[in-house]
Amino acid sequence: MTARILVVDDMLPSVKMLAAKLSGEYYEVLTAMDGPSALDIIKEKQPDLILLDVMMPGMDGYEVCRKVKGDPETAQIPVVMVTALTENHDRILGLEAGADDFLTKPVNDLTLFARVRNLLRLKSTLDQWRLREETARILGLPEVESGRGAVSLDNPSVVVVNDSEVESENISDSISSEGGTIALTAGYDVSPATLAAEDPDVLVVGLKPEDDEALRLCSHVRTEETTRHLPILLIGDEDDIDRLNKALEIGVNDYLVRPVDDLELRARLRAQVRRKRYQDSLKESFLHGLSLATIDSLTGLHNRRYLDGHLKAMIARARDGDKPLAFLMIDIDHFKKVNDTWGHDAGDEVLREVSKRVANGVRGFDLVARYGGEEFVAVMPDTDLTLARAVAERLREMIEALPVKASEKTGDIDVTISIGVAMLESGDDSSALLKRADEALYRAKAAGRNRVDSLEA
Ligand code: GH3
Ligand code: MG
Ligand code: MG
Repeated sequence: MTARILVVDDMLPSVKMLAAKLSGEYYEVLTAMDGPSALDIIKEKQPDLILLDVMMPGMDGYEVCRKVKGDPETAQIPVVMVTALTENHDRILGLEAGADDFLTKPVNDLTLFARVRNLLRLKSTLDQWRLREETARILGLPEVESGRGAVSLDNPSVVVVNDSEVESENISDSISSEGGTIALTAGYDVSPATLAAEDPDVLVVGLKPEDDEALRLCSHVRTEETTRHLPILLIGDEDDIDRLNKALEIGVNDYLVRPVDDLELRARLRAQVRRKRYQDSLKESFLHGLSLATIDSLTGLHNRRYLDGHLKAMIARARDGDKPLAFLMIDIDHFKKVNDTWGHDAGDEVLREVSKRVANGVRGFDLVARYGGEEFVAVMPDTDLTLARAVAERLREMIEALPVKASEKTGDIDVTISIGVAMLESGDDSSALLKRADEALYRAKAAGRNRVDSLEA
């Protein structure tokens, strides 16, 4: 994932060192050496992430952070406090100022990259929700409430999965002090369905040394649709840092190390609750504002009207961030034959099944829409041609691999799709992009169907 990262530190060697590490990972790096100029750059360049030194003369890191988080235009940018201080008190101050995370100097490379990637992923998701909300507003959908107001942190509900009774009790005490409610489970075999039914704000998981049960649970929770957005806070041992970082890679939102400090746990919990509720409020206002007019009733996917509005916004966003945008035009092969052979209702069922598989086969913030009868599109932000072709190929395989059983009366219906891939190019408007994807699709059809093609390749 390419991203623009701002490094703020009053010491030139620190700035240079962090900038070099990040550039080495192909991030675009901006730098500032004091608070006020950092704020100017943030306003002007809208970075995707800010690494912020705490101790700076004049305006210190806490104050910069409070300003960033207090401005609705920049509040969603993740802030990582970088500090030489290891005092817990300072961590708490940072988190209270709204920081999303912190790193201790000297910065450990693996921890740095793991935390950075983790926060960038989170931002991507939030950005897409905000964008959808904007689209709903542009389309003039009724009563779109702004999801941007302050979210309440009252009565957080937390599920704790931990096999240590003592630790669980300590955690429960901390959560109770926050006015929260707790559900405890002793074993790690809790299912995402159970969690989804509980619908907590945060899941806290204790990581046992030399045992991957906890990580398996986390990965399961992250991949399951119903719990995909549930924040996970992991508790582990300091010398288990490699696995803690690996946990961030699989989508755990945050971790803290034993012995668990009451204040730190509470501050980190609050940060996760804030995120979760902010995301929920964006989602709700979006869903609320989204009238039936933008949803296709047969498949539940977005329809063409929605695509037309949203694609423009996605193109503008890609241009602003100088990021790639991929577009897939997907068409079912010989679909007329399905109708002719099995009847129109079976055809409808095939459309529903293909929609489901396509929607499940892309990321949460990709846009999937029904474009026409048996044509679908997927729009994928931040995706280059190689990745887009790989995704298209995976979708094609997912459809081919499993025949559709439309009803008791029909046999197995073999279904295949052809996909045209196009990348956003400079000067493209949405119709130019669509047209190229259509041409690629035409070539895939002409070459025999059940295949992926792209004009650039
Ligand atoms: P190709 O491989 O070239 O794409 O062939 P095709 O038969 O898939 O393409 P064509 O565009 O000729 O036919 C599409 C068919 O899809 C015709 C239309 O009746 C059917 N269709 C469109 N919308 C629906 C729908 O909502 N339900 C059902 N059951 N069929 C639909
Ligand atoms: Mg067609
Ligand atoms: Mg077709």
